[in-house]
Amino acid sequence: MGCGKTMQLLQVAFNYEERGQKVCVCKPATDTKNGSKLSTRIGPERKTDFCFTRTDNLFEIIKKDYVHVACVLVDEAQFLTPEQADQLMQVVVKLNTPVMCYGLRLNFRLQDGGFEGATRLLQLAHKIEELKTICDCGHKATLNCRFLDGELVTDGPDILIDDGTSKIEYKSICPACYYRLIEDKK
Ligand SMILES: [Zn+2]
Repeated sequence: MGCGKTMQLLQVAFNYEERGQKVCVCKPATDTKNGSKLSTRIGPERKTDFCFTRTDNLFEIIKKDYVHVACVLVDEAQFLTPEQADQLMQVVVKLNTPVMCYGLRLNFRLQDGGFEGATRLLQLAHKIEELKTICDCGHKATLNCRFLDGELVTDGPDILIDDGTSKIEYKSICPACYYRLIEDKK
């Protein structure tokens, strides 16, 4: 959504690998746009080690196949289930493997709040870092908004499948611009 989350993840993976350590990179299988790859707006991309569905037990998968890694990196972590957030906590405490999750804390529908997985992550995390980005107006962008054919939308499913009928974009904007766009729609 323009604040460089995936880029940050790739940088962390690079730092580990530069020191000869292995990482496990994974993401939910909900992001259809890039298949199983992680990609960034500015170019770099990388294959994931695995993609998971909402019923997968991440603790069991990591315990079985990735117990040797130095760090687990999760992209699009807002799509975790709350149970999976807890499973990642188990990875940290039972396998003694650090887990870093990159995601959004709030979905595009400002009114009904967060992604349930992200909310659980925020409750469990040992440490939370905010990646900052800037709105077109220059203020700090805190909202992740969905635009269909250039127009702000405030309703719809969490995950919108791109069927090619309209142009789907996500933009980070500030609350002031959000309310202005809502007013403009009326
Ligand atoms: Zn703004």
